[in-house]
Amino acid sequence: MLSKKMQSALNQQIAHELYSAYLYLSMASHFEASSLPGFAHWMKKQYEEETGHGMKIYAYVHNRGGHVELEAIGKPPVKFKSPLEVMNQVLEHEKTVTGTIHALYELAIKENDYATQVMLQWFITEQVEEEKTVVDIIEQLKMVGDARAGLMMLDRALGARG
Ligand code: MG
Repeated sequence: MLSKKMQSALNQQIAHELYSAYLYLSMASHFEASSLPGFAHWMKKQYEEETGHGMKIYAYVHNRGGHVELEAIGKPPVKFKSPLEVMNQVLEHEKTVTGTIHALYELAIKENDYATQVMLQWFITEQVEEEKTVVDIIEQLKMVGDARAGLMMLDRALGARG
């Protein structure tokens, strides 16, 4: 059985993951309206991934005999600036999420909850990948600078994400 404390921390993490999904969907909508369909596509994929993360924890809580209690999800920002600024915002957000996962892992260690530690290891690896992908896009956006042609090429590349 999960401890009450761990269960409530995992419920909180589900809300973090679903907020991430919401944030990326809001960014997708911004890119749709900015004639950058590739960036919008990439953000919608992020939205799906984050929903998947939330559902992974949802399933885990129930597998451990726990009960998921959904928390409120905040309203994401609706106004965004340049693609570079948006991607910087994504990186900052992902770093925050990495922090919340590390805090959960620390709690799992403190409680000798080995199963939760193993479950969280997947998320720790995922965050490394997540941050690296965003850093790569930021580097490419910096290379592109103000060149419209470069931005359109990058938009096409992001639109090809499977
Ligand atoms: Mg996530």
